[in-house]
Amino acid sequence: MSGWIEVIAGSMYSGKTEELIKRVRRSEFAKLKTQVFKPKLDNRYHETKVASHDQNQIQAIPLEHITDVWDFLNHDTQVIGFDEGQFFTFELVQVCRDLAARGLRVIVAGLDMDWKGQPFEPIPTLMAIAEDVSKPRAICTTCGNLASYTQKLRGSGSQIEIGSQDNYEARCRLHFKPQIEDQVISQVPLNPVLLR
Ligand code: ADP
Ligand code: MG
Repeated sequence: MSGWIEVIAGSMYSGKTEELIKRVRRSEFAKLKTQVFKPKLDNRYHETKVASHDQNQIQAIPLEHITDVWDFLNHDTQVIGFDEGQFFTFELVQVCRDLAARGLRVIVAGLDMDWKGQPFEPIPTLMAIAEDVSKPRAICTTCGNLASYTQKLRGSGSQIEIGSQDNYEARCRLHFKPQIEDQVISQVPLNPVLLR
């Protein structure tokens, strides 16, 4: 039987990890052999678990590099999950193709955009080649509407900086700004009238 690729893409807090955990758990109910992997640099909650912001957890193997998956893959694994796919290198795309070609169901969860609102590879490419794509949405912390963007509140200007509620919020298109919010506010010139 041939395998396939599923992508769960969206902003932070959109429920990507929850959805990944749900799909893996349901596979286990179906008595399928599963394995979940995550990039080693995501150690926010636990070294060997994938955890949602709701503290839902499953066992996961941390990988230094995506191609290390071949060292950890069990011969009988049927369903394979990757969380935080955007933190793997672009080689994730070929690894997913190879796994699907071997007959595995491959599920990848990850951010589709970075905090500047730019496509965050390799997720956009995976979305193009996947058989199935879901784009769950979070709730905008400013207005309560559905949110597709991740607002960076503070921190460094690099594309990758691990963080949670302290540094990032979910925002809708209207309330998202492709800048670090605290720095935007501090750049606003003081009103000379108020200074008098
Ligand atoms: P993701 O992996 O997409 O970052 P998770 O699956 O880890 O998301 O977490 C989703 C959970 O985050 C929700 O069920 C909810 O409890 C919580 N949450 C916190 N902030 C928000 C928000 N702004 N919008 C939606 N859910 C939120
Ligand atoms: Mg997640």
